[in-house]
Amino acid sequence: MEQFTDTETNLFSAMVYRFDVAAQKLNLGEGLYKFLRYPTREISVYVPVLLDDGRLEIFKGFRVQHSFARGPCKGGIRYAPDVTLDEIKALAAEMTWKCAVVNIPFGGAKGGIICDPPKMTPGELERLTRRYTAQILEFIGPETDVPAPDINTNEQVMAWIMDTYSMHARRTVTAVVTGKPVELGGSAGRREATGRGILVTAREAIKKLDMTSKPPTVAIQGFGNVGSTAARLMHADGYKIVAVSDIHGGIYNPAGINITELLAFTGKNKTVLGFPNTERISNAEVLELPCDMLVPSATENQIHAKNAPNIKARILCEGANGPTTPQADVILQENGVFLVPDILANAGGVTVSYFEWVQDRYGYFWREEDVTSRLHETMIRSFHEVVGFAEKFKVDNRTAAYMLAIDRVAHVVKMRGYYA
Ligand code: NAD
Repeated sequence: MEQFTDTETNLFSAMVYRFDVAAQKLNLGEGLYKFLRYPTREISVYVPVLLDDGRLEIFKGFRVQHSFARGPCKGGIRYAPDVTLDEIKALAAEMTWKCAVVNIPFGGAKGGIICDPPKMTPGELERLTRRYTAQILEFIGPETDVPAPDINTNEQVMAWIMDTYSMHARRTVTAVVTGKPVELGGSAGRREATGRGILVTAREAIKKLDMTSKPPTVAIQGFGNVGSTAARLMHADGYKIVAVSDIHGGIYNPAGINITELLAFTGKNKTVLGFPNTERISNAEVLELPCDMLVPSATENQIHAKNAPNIKARILCEGANGPTTPQADVILQENGVFLVPDILANAGGVTVSYFEWVQDRYGYFWREEDVTSRLHETMIRSFHEVVGFAEKFKVDNRTAAYMLAIDRVAHVVKMRGYYA
């Protein structure tokens, strides 16, 4: 097992550390360990974009494909100034484990471009997206690698990717991406799938811990696709959302925030700050509030060795990918925090992405209630499989989720053989 000194700051080191722990418990064996530890392919591209002021700028982009063992690679594309290859490598592997946890026939991939979307015009974002797609064209496709939205990418970006790919293929290939607008082959229920998956697993955790006697109090960090949907669905389910935040800071009301009104407010103001009848707090304070459940839904490494001792929530349900560091995991476990790990809690998005891919390939679209009921079934089954694994092998829920996933991928690799 490798010794890492940077698991608190480097998402890739944290992922490999967790992989190592689970691989040891599974007695994976040296060959399988090596096979699964490394990605299959890392692609770096330099993307030229003509800016609106006439200058040419070069942006760096990545696509990492971790595993094809169980099917085509699947994973989001993020646009952010701090994207790194290590981060994308970590998230690509996490996608392999996530798809295996919910048992859908995909491997894992992730993409990213170093850019600052709020500072770019829609035209610049479109040209960036199309040129990046053109540069990774031969590596993506319905049978090979199917991108999806992630931080700062959305249905519009997916529509541009689908159109660029289709123009080169000389036919409309809707199944090349998921998270598309419904009118372009998207799935009913995809937009809210990640948030809905969080609600379903949170509800199972609350039942498991016998906390159903009163509405749970919840703090949510991040109010984008994942955080705002989780907040809306939890609010509709009777949960008391006491705090939410975005990149600018947080708001708090111990009596509960009206999320329906907050969504109308953020639609106009583009931030949660200034919402009436709330106290302004920092993003760090949101994480440390007294509440039943904490749902980090912004970005990675938010809960670390320094603030983990201050977390008061009984349940940590990870909406974001990698919000908790390995050292924080140990502290939270010692303090009895019940963890719903990211590769389970936020797997609703990729589950409905799988449903979207199936519908595109069939050319036959399901009713929203069918999508939702299949999503519920998948999330509830996966929650109990992970918790069952944890109890059987006497490990924490994160290690259990990794073990369940690695075992499923390793089984397939053994059947297929190494071809090495
Ligand atoms: P998004 O861009 O829609 O929203 C991100 C939110 O987090 C915004 O409210 C932003 O203001 C806030 N934020 C960003 N940096 C922050 C910081 N440093 N501190 C506090 N808040 C910050 O992105 P999203 O799609 O909602 O993704 C959020 C997380 O969920 C990411 O980790 C992503 O990988 C993960 N995720 C997303 C999906 C999906 O379907 N979109 C699926 C699975 C996992």
